[in-house]
Amino acid sequence: MSIIQKICPFCTEFTTFTTHQMARLHIFNKHSILLPTNNCRTKLESIILVTQKIRHFSCPCCEYCTTSKDELKLHVEEHGFKVPTLDNGSCWILQTTNVTAKFHGYFSSCLSSFKNNMDVDRYFNNLLCISSVLVLQKRAKYESVPAEYFPPSLLANLHREILKSLSLPSFLDPDLFMTIKGILHMYHENQISNLATRQRLINLAMTKDGPEQSVVVAVESLLPAMKDLDAGEIGESELACSIVHPLIQSLLAYEMEEKTAKCTNTIPENGTDVGRRPDYEVAVYEQYQLSFRTCFGELKGEGSSDVSAIMDFYRLGVFAKLEIVASNLTGVLCFQALGTTITFYTLTLPHPTLYTFTEITTVTIPKTKNDIMSLICALDDLFKIATYHRTISKASEANTQLATLPFAFVQGKRKSLPVKRRPSLGSISNRKL
Ligand SMILES: [Zn+2]
Ligand SMILES: [Zn+2]
Repeated sequence: MSIIQKICPFCTEFTTFTTHQMARLHIFNKHSILLPTNNCRTKLESIILVTQKIRHFSCPCCEYCTTSKDELKLHVEEHGFKVPTLDNGSCWILQTTNVTAKFHGYFSSCLSSFKNNMDVDRYFNNLLCISSVLVLQKRAKYESVPAEYFPPSLLANLHREILKSLSLPSFLDPDLFMTIKGILHMYHENQISNLATRQRLINLAMTKDGPEQSVVVAVESLLPAMKDLDAGEIGESELACSIVHPLIQSLLAYEMEEKTAKCTNTIPENGTDVGRRPDYEVAVYEQYQLSFRTCFGELKGEGSSDVSAIMDFYRLGVFAKLEIVASNLTGVLCFQALGTTITFYTLTLPHPTLYTFTEITTVTIPKTKNDIMSLICALDDLFKIATYHRTISKASEANTQLATLPFAFVQGKRKSLPVKRRPSLGSISNRKL
């Protein structure tokens, strides 16, 4: 039997740990070295010869294993977060701004102020920056992103630039739009029953294919839960069952044999070091085996706290980042449902040293029959999402393996702040405060 120990290579005595997460926390607190999460899929035990009767020391950040403590020390030092060196030949220039240089400056300032800026509710932008992820929201005026690196105008330009690169369609075919509107209107005016409405929508879907079909099926899937009643506050489970799951399944996975959309109960094997799983995911299978994930979702019922909404947003960014690296994808779609308001984001790699987490659009799904006509406003956006999700695939070139900040460093720091000191919380999913 081999013995694999998790030790601190920097302490003179032997300090052992039960988890790599605990080792990383110790190394940060005692030795001020910030280490990334392990983004490898292979299990360490499987690569060590179990017949060897020798003590091995494992690296807390990868699958490396050695019998020498000094070797481990040299190896672990290499993992520490560092500002990437700038190669002028491959910078991302937008108009006249060197975005790469700005981002490296921002990264460097986040890294040096990390110890004081670990509260996720105030510094989610900075924390994602340490994982080399730049957040680009529709609302560009954040207090927590220093304007010396990213003034609001630059953030707004970058947001536009990324959306342009996704080549999203601007709107749904006008004839299809009007047909859906006509069917919903008849239902709203009590001219046809719920069942007859569904039948008409399914007949319509039969005449379409691709993202257009997905949008019609998505509208149909919401109908069973539509009642002419006074709906109270919607809780997380009801939101998941009645709205989010039917909608997302129809939009992203229905009539696609290799894709499944589900409320999850598994933790992705992509380096996630947190015991909590995402609420929702869309997985792609290859040869009947789960291959990679193209979408993660987080849900909160109406009336949830802003801090938990920001934590969810942060987690989505990290789940997506880990997945895009581990599975080498062209992008990962994310959505955050806060009540029936659902905001979509995508994580992409526009430049080899910088990932972006970009807000795409927000839709609000009606809860009752009386409000059903408001669904019309969401059709163009649902079409965009269905179209974009179909483009996500394995990247032709390997994505850069940029280090990711472990969850453990931010989770313990959760606390709410007085309203006045809060950053642009409203920018998360257009939330009203
Ligand atoms: Zn130590
Ligand atoms: Zn390592």
